[in-house]
Amino acid sequence: MFIKSKKSIVIIITCLFYTVVQAQQSFVEMYNLPQYDCEMKVLRELKKTNIVIPDDSTVVWVNARRFEGLLSRMGVEVSIKTESQLQKGDLDGNLFIVGPIIDYSDWNRFGIPIEKLSNGFKIGNFSFQDPLHGFSFVSPHGTSPVRIVFSGNTFEAYERIANNPQFGFEYVVLNNAAPEFIGNGSHTFDLKALKESLYAPAKSKYYVFMLSKNLTLEELGKINDDELKKYDNHIETFVTKIELNLPENTIKSYIHASQEEIKYMSGFFGALCGGTVHGYVTGDEIHTWNWVGEYIEHEVNHQIFNQQVHKMAPTFLLEGIQTWYEYTVSAEKKESGFQRALEFADEDLTDVILGRANFFQGDKYYQISGILVDYLIDTYGLNKFKELYRCDTHDLLSGTGFETIYGKPLSEILVEYKKWLLPMVDKSGTGS
Ligand SMILES: [Zn+2]
Repeated sequence: MFIKSKKSIVIIITCLFYTVVQAQQSFVEMYNLPQYDCEMKVLRELKKTNIVIPDDSTVVWVNARRFEGLLSRMGVEVSIKTESQLQKGDLDGNLFIVGPIIDYSDWNRFGIPIEKLSNGFKIGNFSFQDPLHGFSFVSPHGTSPVRIVFSGNTFEAYERIANNPQFGFEYVVLNNAAPEFIGNGSHTFDLKALKESLYAPAKSKYYVFMLSKNLTLEELGKINDDELKKYDNHIETFVTKIELNLPENTIKSYIHASQEEIKYMSGFFGALCGGTVHGYVTGDEIHTWNWVGEYIEHEVNHQIFNQQVHKMAPTFLLEGIQTWYEYTVSAEKKESGFQRALEFADEDLTDVILGRANFFQGDKYYQISGILVDYLIDTYGLNKFKELYRCDTHDLLSGTGFETIYGKPLSEILVEYKKWLLPMVDKSGTGS
């Protein structure tokens, strides 16, 4: 669930350890970037905490229950209190504070080095006042009492950071889910400024590609007008097939030169601890590594679908519709997907669909989710699937969204999917 809640739109393949370490040193040294604490010591050593929410906020409370679940599964003794339920003694203990900063009436007493402004917040000399500015704060390892904070200028800003919580830097500031600022103690770094200086734009009809100045000449040599046109054509094919509109705004697509670059600049910080990130969508930005058509197209499909249908769908549906599209353009891929789905026909998919089990296990669930979405679209239509996708994230993760849209519980849908799957494979001549 917690891994899922990263909303990771990402392909993780094997860890090229040597390359990763080498690149990390050079990129971190080049820009003097703070180190991410992969051990998440503060979180791991937490024994007991109150989760604090603002008074009168049902939505934050629902959200806080997820953190409560996470912490209790980690063995932390935890209870939820509203701001006004806090006793004086509670301030001497650990606090896990969630919800929009504006909703707190006495912020200063928490003793967090982030100042509340009338319309935002301030870290050192940096002020953040956009409605979609959100932040996380994790007190330095070894300090007591512990403060862990997920907040922002609006509920939307808070929700974006709460859905992608970071524990490895003391400070993380996102704007519409895109990272702008990170830091440990006084070692802070303005990622937004680096985004403005490190990348040069290349425009096409629908895109502005932001090309890293660290890209090799070989990579840059792949990019010309004909090449850019291919990506515009892809968008036109995709929206036709998936029955959506052409994008209204230019799509900002960062092309990074190294693994460390994509991990720091996209805000997929968790990957700094291992793995290879090929692509990631964050807020309105697409991030890929080197000039690889497959990755750019994969991420832009996510971006367009999410922009027009729903931004925060669970991973299974998010990757499922993407893989379904890939199946519509490649019979070979679809064939391979059927084989995979058949191989695991007896597996109960409930947990992975509801985000309780890890989706990212090689390409297994990419393939299977595409087939299950194919079943849903084949049986109930593309529009019904979009209605499902539009459901509140919480309803999708609890399973009630399926019942609301399809009129039957997920368990029944899965039984019918299996009945559909087995003869389908036989029909396509691939049954064993
Ligand atoms: Zn994806």
